[in-house]
Amino acid sequence: MSLLRCTAVTKRFGGLKALDGVDLEVGAGEIVGLVGPNGSGKTTLLSTIAGSLPVSGGRIEFQGRDVTRLSSHRRAHAGIARTFQIPRPLGSFDVLGNVATAAMFGRDRVSRSEAIERAHGVLKRIGLDGHAGSDVTTLTLHEHKFLEIGRALALDPRLILLDEVLGGLNPAEAAAGMELIASLRDDGRSVIYIEHNVRAVTALADRMYVLDRGRNLFDGTPTEVVGDDRVVAAYLGG
Ligand code: ADP
Repeated sequence: MSLLRCTAVTKRFGGLKALDGVDLEVGAGEIVGLVGPNGSGKTTLLSTIAGSLPVSGGRIEFQGRDVTRLSSHRRAHAGIARTFQIPRPLGSFDVLGNVATAAMFGRDRVSRSEAIERAHGVLKRIGLDGHAGSDVTTLTLHEHKFLEIGRALALDPRLILLDEVLGGLNPAEAAAGMELIASLRDDGRSVIYIEHNVRAVTALADRMYVLDRGRNLFDGTPTEVVGDDRVVAAYLGG
């Protein structure tokens, strides 16, 4: 059984069909790359899966259950994590507090002290344990990106939705980020990973979906995607 199944998902913004009957499936412990030219609907699809945008049509099932009309909050409880659906702490908050806040919105209800304990574990894993007491505004870009992944991880999700989390990082930082994302799969979690750059995601993904103008263009292994003429044409505007 698929962990996530999107069937004929449509999203209209006024007269614009940002998604026009998109199908997508994710299995347990799978990294699925979601690629496509700018404006092809990647972020919109992620938002409909997270529940931060209602669909105009179609169906989204998670663990065999219809979640199409569930709020993002309920989907987080069900095990779908996307960083920005987690409420941001008000004002300035230290790094530990940021992750601990996220931990309180996850699959199981945890007490404050359990959330803090879990947050310490997450910070260690993302290499930010030395920054637990730092104000988030003092973090570098790469530390911020890792913190975003850490906040999602604190929910102990089954499915993590990542939107261009490695953008703007130098090669060494991006390599560390890729290792971190691969380790999520080693936990048995599933990941949907958006990247504009097809090649960056091929190294990480088990399977990939290519969107073009709100529709499925192609899906397959990274090797199949990179070798497909339609994919090349979509990127070149052909
Ligand atoms: P991608 O992530 O692939 O770059 P998006 O999902 O961001 O694409 O956007 C798909 C299309 O939907 C684009 O034409 C974009 O302008 C439009 N769009 C996205 N969000 C909104 C919105 N909130 N209101 C109106 N149009 C939107």
